[in-house]
Amino acid sequence: MIKHIGVIIEQDNGIMKAANLGMITMARQKHTILFALVMDGSAGALKEKLSSFGISTIIEIRLAEDFQDNPDVRAKAVAKAVEKFELSALFGLSTAMGKDLLPRIAAILDGSLVMDCFDVDLENNIAGTSRYSGKTLAKIKVRGPVPVFGIRPNAREPVQEQKSAGIIQFEAVSLDSKLLRVVKRGETGKDSKISLTEAEIIISGGRGMKNGENFNLLFECAQKLNAAVGSSRVAVDSGWVPYAMQVGQTGEKVSPKVYIACGISGSIQHFAGMKTSGMVIAINLDETAAIMSNCDYYAKADALKIIPEITKLLETS
Ligand SMILES: Cc1cc2nc3c(=O)[nH]c(=O)nc-3n(C[C@H](O)[C@H](O)[C@H](O)COP(=O)(O)OP(=O)(O)OC[C@H]3O[C@@H](n4cnc5c(N)ncnc54)[C@H](O)[C@@H]3O)c2cc1C
Repeated sequence: MIKHIGVIIEQDNGIMKAANLGMITMARQKHTILFALVMDGSAGALKEKLSSFGISTIIEIRLAEDFQDNPDVRAKAVAKAVEKFELSALFGLSTAMGKDLLPRIAAILDGSLVMDCFDVDLENNIAGTSRYSGKTLAKIKVRGPVPVFGIRPNAREPVQEQKSAGIIQFEAVSLDSKLLRVVKRGETGKDSKISLTEAEIIISGGRGMKNGENFNLLFECAQKLNAAVGSSRVAVDSGWVPYAMQVGQTGEKVSPKVYIACGISGSIQHFAGMKTSGMVIAINLDETAAIMSNCDYYAKADALKIIPEITKLLETS
């Protein structure tokens, strides 16, 4: 039987996040027709791109201006679209935005929710995810109507498949929220313009960076690498960087292509957040640190000296 699958497209200031394309690729399975749900008024601009990744229909959900950013209203609107277009499963990104939105949708639909999925088998409704801080991999079979899957950004390499998507307008302007008002929106992650969970390269600092000022060395290097900057919990607890930058069990779970750990020892709790990275490079003074035997490449070096050198090299290359 053909299934209609909804994919919630996440945008940031009107720009579609690259991680959507891997998520669409994951949703594109045997006997599926893909519907992209776009809530930020730019369906026309996204049509070509979404068509080239196998989207058949774009549902442009129109919300009242006052509620554009309101996750309660967005969740209600998606739930209404699920009903109207008879969608049998929903995909969204397991990002900060997705963690706010997807559980609300699942609650309205009374559907099962699995977050942080690295794989989904739609034929059997089984999601692959990790449990116990990444110590085990779980396959979770979901039952009931309209399962909602939160997909780990970068979990799947995007692969193109040409379709010709049509756009359908879906009016949800009458929806409002008695539960929640968005008062203010602001950025948290210091100078980094790239989101930690979606970055292809992350350069992270730990206690070995010695103070908050030295994190500027990482920001300068990150700019040259087009990377995001992360940190260990010690750097957050010491007040050097904001919590939004923490990677690990109690921070962000990331899957970049390259993770560069500077002055980080490699605790179990830190690994819980970055062990699905493609390549791990460690810079540490101590060759016996756990990270050194759990990485692809390491430099036994002073991070405070070697990072400016790398930045200089990147400037001239
Ligand atoms: C319940 C719980 C949850 C936790 N959650 C998290 C989490 O989400 N994320 C997380 O990161 N931690 C978490 N922790 C903390 C974790 O146990 C470690 O304490 C923490 O990860 C250590 O951070 P670190 O590697 O920066 O510091 P350290 O372990 O102190 O390591 C510092 C490293 O820097 C090296 N170094 C020092 N100077 C330099 C230099 N100049 N150049 C290069 N290397 C240098 C040292 O050799 C050392 O290896 C959690 C702990 C608990 C109990």
